[in-house]
Amino acid sequence: MCGIVGYIGSQNALPLLMDGLRRLEYRGYDSAGLAILQNNTIEVRRAVGKLVNLEKAFNGTPLPGAVGIGHTRWATHGKPSEQNAHPHRSGPLVLVHNGIIENYAALKARLQREGYRFESETDTEVVAHLIAQHLQAGAGLEKAVRRATQEVRGSYALAVLCEWEPHTLIGVRSGCPLVVGMSEHGAMLASDVTALLAHTRNVVFLEDGELVVLAPGGLVVKDTDGKPVTRAPIRIAWDATEAEKGGYPHFMLKEIHEQPRAIMVTMGGGAA
Ligand code: GLU
Repeated sequence: MCGIVGYIGSQNALPLLMDGLRRLEYRGYDSAGLAILQNNTIEVRRAVGKLVNLEKAFNGTPLPGAVGIGHTRWATHGKPSEQNAHPHRSGPLVLVHNGIIENYAALKARLQREGYRFESETDTEVVAHLIAQHLQAGAGLEKAVRRATQEVRGSYALAVLCEWEPHTLIGVRSGCPLVVGMSEHGAMLASDVTALLAHTRNVVFLEDGELVVLAPGGLVVKDTDGKPVTRAPIRIAWDATEAEKGGYPHFMLKEIHEQPRAIMVTMGGGAA
């Protein structure tokens, strides 16, 4: 389980993403990272350990930019290390991933034969290279993401940024949660609604196979065929702390009720 967050709008992305990651830290805390896009260039910072270490990586040199993605990791493939921390890069693009790519070994072997160099031990990095490969072949970012996800088996929620399309942030999910929302100043996505509540209470939960295109002024959810999906946003009435409690009066009760599902996920080896 990991937490992902993304923002594209008119405000400084860094504090906004850090706040989102703090809300998601319960989902993973062995390492964390951020990518910020500005002037068609993406800068990445990553750190092992808790979020406070990532904050230190920015000390004195905050990255400006109104577009970015962030990740807090609970490693499944590859030890907790700076190199294995997300975001992962391939050429002009970076991405963050929650989930497990089951056929990553075969894909990695193929991509290595085709000349791609891997910098991490993660399953995630294959997805970055697959998308880059489709981009190099002339597909736009949305199409490249769609084609890459058709090649992977497993579970994922992904957020993808590309230097060639600086006004677009793409999200896609299959088997892992992803929620999106529009605030007055931009569009956001996250693994959990608690990361959005400081900015908007009207959110859309993506369903499996759906892809979302976010831009500073709006967002479009699309189905597997690329057709726009019309779904009224859900209004979240809880505040962030209540949302973290998932409707239960206190955390202990939430944990008790979550035990059967947690056991099933553990025994089934699935990603939560
Ligand atoms: N499989 C990815 C990794 O190990 C993401 C982890 C997760 O979502 O649990 O980096």
